[in-house]
Amino acid sequence: MTEEAASTTCSARGCGNAATWALRWNNPKIHTPDRRKTWLACDEHKAGLSDFLDRRSFLREVEPFT
Ligand SMILES: [Zn+2]
Repeated sequence: MTEEAASTTCSARGCGNAATWALRWNNPKIHTPDRRKTWLACDEHKAGLSDFLDRRSFLREVEPFT
């Protein structure tokens, strides 16, 4: 558990909504395979953010965030 964002709001640019989803992702070019970066997303931005990561094959897990 390193580099977890202290913030609990959505990671989408300009969005201040409380996050309800945690998108765990990994960029194989710069991260070791077991490394996870986290983006937080509100319901509104979950699809857009996970799409963005999925298109780059970065998305690993999507978990509810409370
Ligand atoms: Zn949002």
